[in-house]
Amino acid sequence: MEKLYEGKSKIVFSGEEAGTCIIKYKDTATAGNGLKKEDLPGKGKLNAEISNLIFEYLMKNGIKTHLLKVIDETTILVKKADIVMVEVIVRNVAAGSFSKKYGVAEGSSLNNTVIEFSYKSDELGDPMINDSQITAIGISTEDELKELKETAFRINELMTKLFEKAGIRLIDFKLEFGRAGGELLLCDEISPDSCRLWDMNTNDKMDKDRFRRDMGGVLEGYKAVLDRLKD
Ligand code: UDP
Repeated sequence: MEKLYEGKSKIVFSGEEAGTCIIKYKDTATAGNGLKKEDLPGKGKLNAEISNLIFEYLMKNGIKTHLLKVIDETTILVKKADIVMVEVIVRNVAAGSFSKKYGVAEGSSLNNTVIEFSYKSDELGDPMINDSQITAIGISTEDELKELKETAFRINELMTKLFEKAGIRLIDFKLEFGRAGGELLLCDEISPDSCRLWDMNTNDKMDKDRFRRDMGGVLEGYKAVLDRLKD
């Protein structure tokens, strides 16, 4: 298989069939733009299973995604897409960089759902970018941006419900989108690496903050997320 790209937590190969890619999840955990890095054996498998489960649920509920087939525990077949160069962040509760930047205590409720974009550029450190900046430099058109936002809000509603049933509070998360065959598709992954997930009763963190903040029990948290989603 021809390797197209190796990222921090996944490797992308070209698929046998034209217009497809194969994505393999790795066990590497990184934070702070790759400055903190560690191997967590089993993380790839957990994230793949969680992400596949969420993608399948979203697809059942009308969200278009890149996922074509689960190949094995850490590998999936996806549609090849032209990635929209922004990360879409949705926040239901204040946490992380939002809390820090605006001086709002972590865990504070918000009067409305927040949506943010950051420009996907390791070199620039993924800077925050607004709508008019996105269209100005040609990252996306106004129409595409509108669809992107509507889809992100719909995904938030669906995921909030899914996690609520599992006794988990969806604090915030990051999405990535791509274009293929004239359609906007949800791409990348949705996992404890890309979401903040707190236990509904105890507020215990079950996500990558356990790694970022050296809290220990990283994989135990991810495993609990998977077990509860499967229940
Ligand atoms: N996030 C992500 N990748 C990034 C940046 C953020 O998956 O490159 C996720 C992160 O896990 C959290 C949400 O997006 O669920 C919001 O992250 P935040 O902006 O608070 O940044 P952080 O505190 O992670 O630096």
